[in-house]
Amino acid sequence: MEKGYLSEAFVSFQGEGLHVGRRQLFLRFAGCPLRCRYCDTPESLVRTNHFVVHADEPVILPNPVGLREVQRATELLDIRMGAVDGVALTGGEPLSQVDFLETLLLSGVLPRPRLLETAGVLTDELSRILSYIDVVSMDLKLPSNTGETQFWEEHEGFLKLAADKAYVKILVDEQTLEDEMYRATSIVQAAGNRIPVFLQPITDRRNRTAICPKRLATLFGIARTALQDVRVVPQTHKMLQVL
Ligand code: SF4
Repeated sequence: MEKGYLSEAFVSFQGEGLHVGRRQLFLRFAGCPLRCRYCDTPESLVRTNHFVVHADEPVILPNPVGLREVQRATELLDIRMGAVDGVALTGGEPLSQVDFLETLLLSGVLPRPRLLETAGVLTDELSRILSYIDVVSMDLKLPSNTGETQFWEEHEGFLKLAADKAYVKILVDEQTLEDEMYRATSIVQAAGNRIPVFLQPITDRRNRTAICPKRLATLFGIARTALQDVRVVPQTHKMLQVL
């Protein structure tokens, strides 16, 4: 049985994308190959020897974890049938621990639907576990926002594979380049122009959105010209001040 590294586990309202507003179990995986400049979960980027279960009182459990510890975390969080609308497997990058992820998915300890939140670059890893996932939330990373290298080819292959189950998030702010929005749009179009796309304004440290309405409308227009389902949705969990 494969063990893995978590950063935290909690129950909260989904604040992003297609399932916004649903109450979900969140399992945040530790470790990520990227370093996006806007990353709002820096504590999840590296693996540590413990993770936090945000129960009524925070509980610290040791890493690496196996099924028993994940089961224990769900008990501490009082997960019952009907109490949550599925699980969000988030990070970090869950696919960077694909053996552990596969163990979890095969175990039956996770409620459904199973939502995978991913940076959308690890295509081989996705192909291993895609049949056990219900929905894929794929980030399409624009270099002008992330400060990272470009991942166009990786994103292309990843989205083609995940297309039937995917929606796409594209983070935007004043620095977002229009050329990159055109490129991102063409990648989605090639995979299927009905795939829902969420433009998600980046927030600053005070949780204020860092894009003006005019710029947002311009970027929306680029995407909407080619795609059928484009929406602007900010991170609602930050407005609610929940995890
Ligand atoms: S991919 Fe996600 S977790 Fe990794 S650095 Fe970027 S925003 Fe943070």
